[in-house]
Amino acid sequence: MSTMAVCAAAAISTESWPLVAGLAAGGFLIDVDHAIDYVVVERQRDLRPGAFLRYYVEGRVRRAVLALHSYELLAVLIALAWFTGNPWLLGYVGGALMHLALDLAFNGECTPHSIVRFYSFVYRATHRFDAAQLLGVAPRRPAAAGFWRAFFGGTEHRVPMLDSTDGHASTRRRG
Ligand SMILES: [Zn+2]
Repeated sequence: MSTMAVCAAAAISTESWPLVAGLAAGGFLIDVDHAIDYVVVERQRDLRPGAFLRYYVEGRVRRAVLALHSYELLAVLIALAWFTGNPWLLGYVGGALMHLALDLAFNGECTPHSIVRFYSFVYRATHRFDAAQLLGVAPRRPAAAGFWRAFFGGTEHRVPMLDSTDGHASTRRRG
């Protein structure tokens, strides 16, 4: 939501679409590396959003490469943006910085280890991207099926009302 607000503010104040598009990419699309990890690193083939999200909620992740969530990459991009003055890049690093700051603020409670170190690519590489070591995560009990239920922490709070309202076969609980 804050990314949206910043994008709107940037659109109004700069009228530079490349900057705004870059900001949005840095703010939102940076999380595509979760999806890339899911398919390329974890070799998961169930591409339904619910399956993807449950995989994370249930702590089944084995490797955390997360190439885009890296200070190292960000530092290189900041240098590039600085030297080239490219508005796309300037926007992207602005959005990515904001995104990482939010990730640092909110993801700290996901791990008993330092969340600050986690976003260093070199640190993750030295632990061979082992999610269990990096985050101290152990598999949790299965999360509720369904994208939104998993999204809103379906393991803890069951919302019986949702059963009657969602009509999609793929989002129903199985077993
Ligand atoms: Zn993120």
